[in-house]
Amino acid sequence: MATINKNYKKLQGGYLFTEIAKRTKDFMEKNPKVKIMRLGIGDTTRPLSPAVIKGLSKEVKKLSNEKTYTGYGDTEGNKKLRMALSLFYKKRNVDLNLQEIFISDGAKSDLANIQSIFGPGNVVAIADPVYPAYLDSTVIFGRTGEFVNGKYKGLVYMECNEENGFVPSPPKQKADIIYLCNPNNPTGSVATKKQLKAFVDYALKNKAVIIFDATYVEYISDETLPKSIYEIEGAKKCSIEINSFSKWAGFTGVRVGWTIIPMDLLVEKNKLNSLWARRQGCMFNGASNVAQEGALAVMSPAGIKENKNTIAYYMKNASIIRNGLSKIGLKVFGGEHAPYLWVKTPNNLSSWEFFNKLLNEAHVVGTPGSGFGSKGEGYVRLTAFGNRKDVEEAVKSIEENLKL
Ligand code: PLP
Repeated sequence: MATINKNYKKLQGGYLFTEIAKRTKDFMEKNPKVKIMRLGIGDTTRPLSPAVIKGLSKEVKKLSNEKTYTGYGDTEGNKKLRMALSLFYKKRNVDLNLQEIFISDGAKSDLANIQSIFGPGNVVAIADPVYPAYLDSTVIFGRTGEFVNGKYKGLVYMECNEENGFVPSPPKQKADIIYLCNPNNPTGSVATKKQLKAFVDYALKNKAVIIFDATYVEYISDETLPKSIYEIEGAKKCSIEINSFSKWAGFTGVRVGWTIIPMDLLVEKNKLNSLWARRQGCMFNGASNVAQEGALAVMSPAGIKENKNTIAYYMKNASIIRNGLSKIGLKVFGGEHAPYLWVKTPNNLSSWEFFNKLLNEAHVVGTPGSGFGSKGEGYVRLTAFGNRKDVEEAVKSIEENLKL
């Protein structure tokens, strides 16, 4: 008799985005003449850059000819792309050999699937609030107990709050796998070298492994802040880094990312690199060859320049939101090194109460912070991924119509 993975029953339903859609739809039905403005979009909206379109098109054309056609590629990824990434890291004083880089179809799948190389008893630590994929995959892999009073038993929550600038400290208790999201979605916070070093020190001392989600590092505007965990001494002995072209170059639909597992990273004397290579050989067949050619174009001088401009566009949106909301007395965090703004609700409103207020009074849709963890209660996340005109319109409406 087949049975199911009962851990799925422990998952808390995908309530957040369904509920946002429902409340927005209800409002629109009651107010058909009102224009809704969305500052909750977590997806890129700008078109791909010309250099990237050229790279993608070149590969598509190759597929149309018998002589240049290619089928399956190397599971670990296009060699040229891995070489380009290795050179890219070299500029950050990080030396990587090609076997340490695995090309993926985006960060999310690797962030979740990486759990398959760890033993069942490992204790997982995650920030609160944080991008929900780490939590759900931890639950599915059976590394939590039941959900009681808003928390999973057996999970270590690293609290992010105003006092610590929304950057967590290493756990006080034992944790074996630590997810770090830096810059953080949803708070937009970013860690200094010193703050990351505290995690590396903890991991080395406790023989723990850090899973460093670097999806938003290209949004970091201060050159003194680390863009890779490997900029921290000792990190190669305790850290996996997972990154993506999604938010760097608008690849949310194209789908390419990468995962780095250094050869020096040993667990119970085993190379995690070899386990992951084995896992990928068995359960992954490589990223799309067309998409990888596009990623290679992102890393060309023209691609780097063009995508810097796109990021600058989003970050200008972020400053427009930040300035507009601050001007009317709202407390706004983030938006300086990440496309996320973390807005404290006024007058102790709950996240959902403020969501409703924004929708009803300003016709703006945000995302309730409580959907990212219990410590997100009392905040709303806004994003800078929209079109400039729409962002300006939304901010103007908040400034003029929100009753504070
Ligand atoms: N990591 C974080 C923190 C994210 O916010 C997202 C997407 O929003 C992802 C990973 C997913 O990235 P990808 O599109 O590469 O799967």
